[in-house]
Amino acid sequence: MDNVDVLIVGAGPTGLTLACDLARQGVASRVVDQSAQPGAGGRGFSLKPLSLAALDDLGLTRAITTAGFVERRTRFHRGTRRLFELDTPPAPVTVEQPYPNVVALPQWRTEAILRERLGELGGKVEFGMRVTGLAGGEVTFAGGERVRARFVVGADGGRSTIRRELGIPFTGRTDEDTRAMISDVRLDGLDPAGGVRMWLSPDRGVALLRPVPETGVWQAVVSLGRDLAGDEDTLRRLLTERTGLPGLRVTEVLWHSVWRYNLRIADRFRAGPVFLAGDAAHVHSPFGGHGMNTGIQDAYNLGWKLGMVVRGLAPQGLLDTYESERMPVARAVLADSDRRMGGMMSWRFARPLAGPLLRAGFVRQQRKTRRDHPVYPAGPLIGEGGGAPAPDGALPTGARLFDLFRGSHFTVLGPGPVPGLDPALVHVHRVAGDFRVVRPDGYVALTSPTAGPVRAYFARFAAG
Ligand SMILES: Cc1cc2nc3c(=O)[nH]c(=O)nc-3n(C[C@H](O)[C@H](O)[C@H](O)COP(=O)(O)OP(=O)(O)OC[C@H]3O[C@@H](n4cnc5c(N)ncnc54)[C@H](O)[C@@H]3O)c2cc1C
Repeated sequence: MDNVDVLIVGAGPTGLTLACDLARQGVASRVVDQSAQPGAGGRGFSLKPLSLAALDDLGLTRAITTAGFVERRTRFHRGTRRLFELDTPPAPVTVEQPYPNVVALPQWRTEAILRERLGELGGKVEFGMRVTGLAGGEVTFAGGERVRARFVVGADGGRSTIRRELGIPFTGRTDEDTRAMISDVRLDGLDPAGGVRMWLSPDRGVALLRPVPETGVWQAVVSLGRDLAGDEDTLRRLLTERTGLPGLRVTEVLWHSVWRYNLRIADRFRAGPVFLAGDAAHVHSPFGGHGMNTGIQDAYNLGWKLGMVVRGLAPQGLLDTYESERMPVARAVLADSDRRMGGMMSWRFARPLAGPLLRAGFVRQQRKTRRDHPVYPAGPLIGEGGGAPAPDGALPTGARLFDLFRGSHFTVLGPGPVPGLDPALVHVHRVAGDFRVVRPDGYVALTSPTAGPVRAYFARFAAG
């Protein structure tokens, strides 16, 4: 039987982010996925600023920002009648905020970029490996193979086998009346330069078309309700009816899937050496564009902790903070996406001020989406003045802060030395002003005018 430090079940964005983070620390992991080949669907489209900072740390931002784009134009219709067009200029890039905007990229492309990075780091995804059982750190696959792992991470999506094997309830609700068909299509009769189009109608349902620049591909979403079939004929018919565009013709359906409204969270994100992350731990509506981002950030929170424990740099207790930090974030994300979804569903498109109100609401939401970074409250890893993501910046030497943070080490910026710190765990840089401790995942752990609290922080929480 094969033995491995970490077995990652599921090679979606969550599993791949974790695999990259562990690989760069030299931690041996296996990444398995039940699919015969990589997923093809556009699905999650938005990479938010905090995910971009995480991907920067993993050495991926250039690939992501080259392939991705900032969506600025959205055209709204009530029924088939044009209501207004929103043009949202990108927020300016600054030294402190190199990623102020949401980058749009089809999920299959984000996953491909992550897989490529994993390959550069010496890892790979084993496709066609379906996990069927888990008992006492031993994982069983459909073909009968068994693997013993010191740690197992269930990043195996909303229907997680790992969660089921652990017997952890997935608490929440499913609304069978709220269904949508999500697809990637090629079409004629619409200019991609016009940006995203949305058709809203209280009786006919919703349609959305989002171009993927320079590919000829569009993401098409149509609401289905309880009874409509999620097949290609229905997609074509609903697009024609709801857009009212006689020249619109879907020439090819590349991928499609039916989405149901689920709002659920696992009662626990950890059972001993087994963790749940991403959709395996929480699912919600796509409103707010949280899905993939929350999974990436779960993985980024867990990656350095798991890596440090496996490398003997930190005690096992460090792993307790994964659930205590990520579960409140997941709960807040569920509540936010549910609020946004409720707002859309209850919208009375027919009322006279619908256009201006919709415009104002959408602008508000876009601004919020750019800035919805979670802040970790005080806890074992967050001291005085900590909890928020550390901004980027430039030191008088010219060094860029994000470059100093890059890697799975803590960073101390401060006016003097802090004796006794393990250089494998902490990098210290001399900077005028107070001491600032930045965690490997880019969060400020604490600030202090003196070195004492810095020493105490590492003595208490990070000694292996
Ligand atoms: C149809 C659809 C449309 C979506 N649209 C949007 C959107 O518009 N915006 C948005 O933000 N989010 C969207 N999402 C959500 C977003 O795609 C997810 O939040 C994101 O994929 C979560 O990533 P993950 O890695 O946690 O899980 P997943 O991407 O689901 O990956 C899980 C992986 O685990 C594998 N797996 C499952 N079971 C096993 C097993 N037993 N053994 C081995 N491997 C296994 C699967 O093959 C899969 O590759 C959509 C999701 C779906 C399903």
